[in-house]
Amino acid sequence: MTTINHPIVTTNGVVRPTVAEIDLDRLTRNYRAIADHVAPAGVMAILKANAYGHGLVEVARHLEQLGAPYFGVAYLEEGILLRESGIQTPILVLGGILGNQAPLFLRYGLTVTASSVEKLEHLEAAAANMGVQARVHLKIDTGMERIGVHYYSADTLLEAALRCRHVFVEGIFSHFANADSADLTSAQTQLERFNTVLAAYKQRGLTPTLRHMANSGAILQLPHSHFDMVRAGILLYGVYPSAEVPRTIAVAPVLSWKSRVVYFKVVQPNHPVSYGSTWQTEQMTRVVTVPVGYGDGYFRAMSNKAQVLINGRRYAVIGRICMDQMMVNINWETAYNNDEVVLIGSSGDETLCCEDLAEWAGTIPYEILTNINTRVPRVYKQTENQLLRPDSE
Ligand SMILES: *Cc1c(COP(=O)(O)O)cnc(C)c1O
Repeated sequence: MTTINHPIVTTNGVVRPTVAEIDLDRLTRNYRAIADHVAPAGVMAILKANAYGHGLVEVARHLEQLGAPYFGVAYLEEGILLRESGIQTPILVLGGILGNQAPLFLRYGLTVTASSVEKLEHLEAAAANMGVQARVHLKIDTGMERIGVHYYSADTLLEAALRCRHVFVEGIFSHFANADSADLTSAQTQLERFNTVLAAYKQRGLTPTLRHMANSGAILQLPHSHFDMVRAGILLYGVYPSAEVPRTIAVAPVLSWKSRVVYFKVVQPNHPVSYGSTWQTEQMTRVVTVPVGYGDGYFRAMSNKAQVLINGRRYAVIGRICMDQMMVNINWETAYNNDEVVLIGSSGDETLCCEDLAEWAGTIPYEILTNINTRVPRVYKQTENQLLRPDSE
């Protein structure tokens, strides 16, 4: 089964030759591999930034069918879009809440991150006003210095939570700054601080049932941080958070990025290619043009560095990457109009992964994935019946 999400233009069902192909069978396997590894802890699937570029609503629908117990997004708007698309799974908005947003959180049944005493009290007032119960997860800052109440002041949040009558404290969480590095010293310190806060809360009788701290790095290498739930982001999409983490769970990339040859030509010796003439031929050279560029999220910083796959072979991207097109040196080999060009994914025995692109662009795989523009249609592929587990009767 193949479905396509909102391409900008469809012409009789024909979409752009440039697509991001989302393999839902792989998403299923990645989710289950993580869930099996962390059980009995549950998996909060992190869906922020258009599900790391994979398509927010489509990925959420798929994971809801798989029975994922919780979703995490960054912003209120992402949560609202999921609710308006019919998603019923609990959704935690991980980012900070602004004052006037409280009624929308409550109306859409979104779980709020309470990151300060003031925000918690504001939410309590809004909930009382609407005659409803707000669902919150308390956020403790154990060393990230992003949002949350500092671990050394956590008792103020505790006392405020105990005073609330219209707030249900379902969860409490913290976030690692360095769980994806080989040196786990700072992560261990953060984990100890969180444990100290949990113990203090327990003494005062506040024992939220969903304690969570682990992102992908901690899922892989800090089992003591799994608590009741883990927050799986990039690992769910089949990409490891860094080259340093041990690959204790086997996952495979869900996204492939493909285009097609749209033009073929022969360039004479000593002729420059593309804006700024940053590359030029030395001999007669066959060059193809591919209809993808930095306006699609293929970083311009990869000019003269990136490679693509055509018919199972690697070729160099030459000259500056343009907004909508780029040129590829096929040496003196052959490629035809409409031949597939793989930007991320496999062709024959060759594979390009988003770690390769991250290296060429001087960034991290997270940014490669989240930068793929909405102009690129996402095509969803699914062949397996996900409700049947091959290993279960
Ligand atoms: C993005 C995010 C995650 C997921 O991180 P990954 O490294 O992609 O697993 C988890 N928790 C919070 C608070 C986040 O913002």
